[in-house]
Amino acid sequence: MKFMSYLRVALLTTLNIVLNAATAGRYVWLEGRVRRGIFANWAKRFRYRPGRFVRPKSQAEIVELVRSSRGLRVFGSGHSFNAGVVSDEALVSLDDYSGLLWTDRDKKQIAVKGGTRVRDVVELLAREGLAFGALPSHDAQSIAGILSTDVHGTGRDWGFVSQSVVSLKLVDGRGDVHECRPSDDLFKAAIGGIGTLGIITEVVVQGVDRFNVEQRVQVSDIPFVKKNLDRLLRENDHFSLYLFPFSERCQINTWNRTDKGHSFLGDLREFVNISIDALMAAWIGNFAAYTGSLRAFSSLAYGAKLGSHLVLESDRSFNRTIYHLHQELEFTVPFEDTFEECRRFIKLYEEMYPSGLPYALFEVRFTPAGHDRTLIGAGRERRCAWIDLVCNDARGFEKYYAAAEDLIREVGARPHLGKYCESLDRADMAKLHGDDFTKFLDLVDKHDPEGKFANAFTQRLFGHRGA
Ligand SMILES: Cc1cc2nc3c(=O)[nH]c(=O)nc-3n(C[C@H](O)[C@H](O)[C@H](O)COP(=O)(O)OP(=O)(O)OC[C@H]3O[C@@H](n4cnc5c(N)ncnc54)[C@H](O)[C@@H]3O)c2cc1C
Repeated sequence: MKFMSYLRVALLTTLNIVLNAATAGRYVWLEGRVRRGIFANWAKRFRYRPGRFVRPKSQAEIVELVRSSRGLRVFGSGHSFNAGVVSDEALVSLDDYSGLLWTDRDKKQIAVKGGTRVRDVVELLAREGLAFGALPSHDAQSIAGILSTDVHGTGRDWGFVSQSVVSLKLVDGRGDVHECRPSDDLFKAAIGGIGTLGIITEVVVQGVDRFNVEQRVQVSDIPFVKKNLDRLLRENDHFSLYLFPFSERCQINTWNRTDKGHSFLGDLREFVNISIDALMAAWIGNFAAYTGSLRAFSSLAYGAKLGSHLVLESDRSFNRTIYHLHQELEFTVPFEDTFEECRRFIKLYEEMYPSGLPYALFEVRFTPAGHDRTLIGAGRERRCAWIDLVCNDARGFEKYYAAAEDLIREVGARPHLGKYCESLDRADMAKLHGDDFTKFLDLVDKHDPEGKFANAFTQRLFGHRGA
């Protein structure tokens, strides 16, 4: 029932915040898990009972598992939004293969096991006085899951977690262990390859000295941002936008390295800010969408929105625990087309809204040209704008996403394969990634000749056979 689906978003978002606060940030309820034999992803939308569930404890066990299985898929923390984590036979978690392997203080590098959560990698780096050079917006994912979907953030000179990786180890479909570096084709195929070549078991991360970040959230309007986009991107290390339906108002977010000290009670204030945003979207935005009053809500709410200004430790600033129960469909377009393409997808939402869509906002991030660490990642090579259609996980979002996927196909946008992806297929991927896609498929055939890592989702996208 529509009402129940809206109420569910509001209640579960609230529960997530309360549980996280009660455990001093240690427990996030919205996370992918296997309980009593049933897997559920972070938003509890992909829920199924795998044939068997396996938690290997060593690389040798992972090799043995691959050699003895007919079909398997791995999951990290189930923070992707699609059926990539669905296994026809064995579902594998590396939760028992996580943690530190070694540290090299002189090179400022650490090696971690593939199941290590990003928040734990951050912690391990911090103990050595180190940090990631930059990070995306969330830290609950596993380091291997992040790389398998080539997770991005936003930045003038930086864009991807894979930029901080010196090397990785991968157990391929034949059970062979490969150590690969960013210049290797196998590395590039694994980054963004959604686990179709093998299991990423170890990752060497390049750290930088710990630093602070000055984070500003300001309310602005689209004509101003359009006119000043180049300058805003030039003047800030990291810059992103939130756009809203039925409104010319927008939110500018910036992150800049600073020598300034931490803000008073900065972490607590950040927690309050994030929680208020999540509750606003889950209760007020949801209520406005449900009652059909989003247009009126938009002109009032975004006009009254407050900004914030904090100096935090870099990882606290880049990574925000995201409490809000939502869905995301994200893709890249050429940087030059940023506003034209944003306009199209927002207009589509506004036109479909009377038919009953849940609350949505649109996050826009930017990555620089020259990303050559992936073959099929959406941010490959060109300077990109990432448009993220963020909808409350309530009834109606699927019909908007179905129409948006048609539009994605029409404009030739490249999909983020960690996000919602229900209809794009091999022909679309071939058109979008050309020779790189062919190279990717050749590597899949070579490293997983029996299709052990294939499932229905990868077969639709890549067309290769399964076990
Ligand atoms: C709240 C939230 C915020 C997010 N923010 C961002 C963001 O800022 N930027 C961004 O780009 N994305 C973002 N995402 C998307 C998401 O983080 C990524 O898609 C990421 O893959 C999830 O990591 P995970 O460990 O949960 O992987 P899972 O969802 O468990 O798995 C993702 C894919 O990787 C494969 N995989 C997992 N582990 C391995 C392994 N060891 N070896 C090989 N393959 C493996 C799986 O089979 C699956 O196909 C966000 C998602 C959520 C829910």
